[in-house]
Amino acid sequence: MRARLSLLFFFGYIGFAHSQSPQAVKAVQDYSRTIYPTLDRLYKDLHQTPELSLHEEKTAQKMAAELKALGFQVKEKMGAHGVVGVLMNGPGPTVLIRTDMDALPLEEKTGLPYASKARGVNAAGNEVNIMHACGHDIHMTVFVGTARTLVQLKNQWKGTLVMVAQSAEENGLGADLMLKAGLFDFAPVPDFAIALHDNPFLPAGTIGYREGPFMASVDMMDITVFGEGGHGAAPHTTKDPVVLSAQMVMAFQTVVSRTLNPIDPAVVTVGSIHGGTVHNITPDEVKMQLTLRSYSPEVREKIIESIRRISTSLAQSVGLDNSKMPQISIRDPQTPATVNDPTLTRRLIGVFRTQFGQDKVVEMEPYMVGEDFSRFDMDKKVPICMFWLGTLAPERIQAAKAKGEQLPSLHSPFFAPVPEPTIKTGVTAMSLAALNLFGK
Ligand SMILES: [Zn+2]
Ligand SMILES: [Zn+2]
Repeated sequence: MRARLSLLFFFGYIGFAHSQSPQAVKAVQDYSRTIYPTLDRLYKDLHQTPELSLHEEKTAQKMAAELKALGFQVKEKMGAHGVVGVLMNGPGPTVLIRTDMDALPLEEKTGLPYASKARGVNAAGNEVNIMHACGHDIHMTVFVGTARTLVQLKNQWKGTLVMVAQSAEENGLGADLMLKAGLFDFAPVPDFAIALHDNPFLPAGTIGYREGPFMASVDMMDITVFGEGGHGAAPHTTKDPVVLSAQMVMAFQTVVSRTLNPIDPAVVTVGSIHGGTVHNITPDEVKMQLTLRSYSPEVREKIIESIRRISTSLAQSVGLDNSKMPQISIRDPQTPATVNDPTLTRRLIGVFRTQFGQDKVVEMEPYMVGEDFSRFDMDKKVPICMFWLGTLAPERIQAAKAKGEQLPSLHSPFFAPVPEPTIKTGVTAMSLAALNLFGK
């Protein structure tokens, strides 16, 4: 099995890596260098004008303007503020490149001269600081740089390029909204869909990859636990939903540890629990919010079924009648797992290794975070691949290591990618990946 796999890998690698002409590689490198000053300005502008999920109005206008200026047929406001651009360039494959556009409700603490001071109103109506703490501004800058490069090199490839900038990745709604709004009525269904995500631990100039499972499926579950309230000093006259909820939270810990196959990765986290008002009143309900993560529909179903069973049986055990069983709802849509197509991933690894060198293209562990880029596989019909783009100065990684410090993760107010090497590597990698998929 291992021999067969490595043989496959060998032929896949050799076969595709050499389809990249040296002229195309040089043209991509030269052009990404030429346009870097404008990309740097674009990045810093996007960084200072972040917008929250489903509110990416001005950001989307910028993406649309860039694509229109390059001659793409553009459709805007597709699923919230989604933008799609289509460029037909003769007969050939269709390649979709995706970016996300939303930022997070967070106060930036990087101290950078171009740090965000933006504020906006969140879904709950509160004014909050906003920061591109997941680096979607890097994704958009690379997206624009790639579109410019591929248009500049138009005579070097044939096919249809579909550029998709989606709203609301952070809450997992944007890609679904675009698909439901008819993305693939406007654009052809792609032969390949590719995307990148910046990585907070890899050095800039490095690409991370993973064949197969890359990011987990995400479910948001809401549970209302009912009880019978009363005086806190008279527990015998109540059925306490606080104690019942505590039992449920503890019992949920056995879902992953005792009901799933230990080789199936999964997470059950109770992220929020609220009940009651004061010290001496037993409330009649408690609300919980859970996040569930897994890599397969079967495991996902098993987790959901286990939580239902545990919740109901514990509620019955305290003597609640059927009308007071816990109410469980799961947000629709959920985010499916991001599973990188192995053949496509190997093909891109070949391109990247040839370009950046063996040691700059590193295999990564799968993560339990989620990404709605997974939706572009259209229920496994389209091969997809998302890869990691390194963002850090090597000195910063070294310094953190020496001091035994943890580097800031994505969604940290201290997340600070180094723009130039990150963006240049991103544009080069994405452009060469697309050229390779177009058969050039
Ligand atoms: Zn994020
Ligand atoms: Zn992200």
